[in-house]
Amino acid sequence: MSYFVTPIAKLIEEFEKLPGIGPKSAQRLAFYVVNLPPEKALKLANAIKEAKEKVKYCSVCGNLTDKDPCMVCNSENRDRSVICVVENPRDIVAMEKTREFKGLYHVLHGAISPMEGIGPEDIKIKELLSRLQPGEVKEIIIATNPNIEGEATAMYIAKLLKPLGIKTTRIAHGIPVGGDLEYADEVTLAKALQGRREI
Ligand SMILES: [Zn+2]
Repeated sequence: MSYFVTPIAKLIEEFEKLPGIGPKSAQRLAFYVVNLPPEKALKLANAIKEAKEKVKYCSVCGNLTDKDPCMVCNSENRDRSVICVVENPRDIVAMEKTREFKGLYHVLHGAISPMEGIGPEDIKIKELLSRLQPGEVKEIIIATNPNIEGEATAMYIAKLLKPLGIKTTRIAHGIPVGGDLEYADEVTLAKALQGRREI
């Protein structure tokens, strides 16, 4: 038997599915929402609805966007000869904050992980290769996370790019091994970018 009336129990159940939210926090959030004035609760519900309706993946780079192609892909101020390859859209935010990178991006939406049964065909590697028009792209910077999966992915992509004659670089290890790109501070990430090496 639940201690909560059904609508609250349902709300708790939904909050519990969110990353980093345990049962206690889920209960706290549910009671917070229930106690909100109706217009504020509706605003929250609408923000979720609108984000879900309007935000899509860019058909070129895979970044989250409300316009397709995204702002970066569409910009005339970006250097089209360099593509920075990242694991997820949150990494783009981290990279943009450094103000160091002026090229384009490509989001893999994951990394190769034999342990979890994620192979090269499960992430957006094919899509990356199809973007490489001869002569246009001069460098691919691989900025996958510095962990086993990220390194395996970097090596795999580097091997594919070798015969194409495109310079492939890997960001330097300023970021702690096992760490996540998205949590690196701007200075560390900017340094990692500057210190990138050909692989
Ligand atoms: Zn894009």
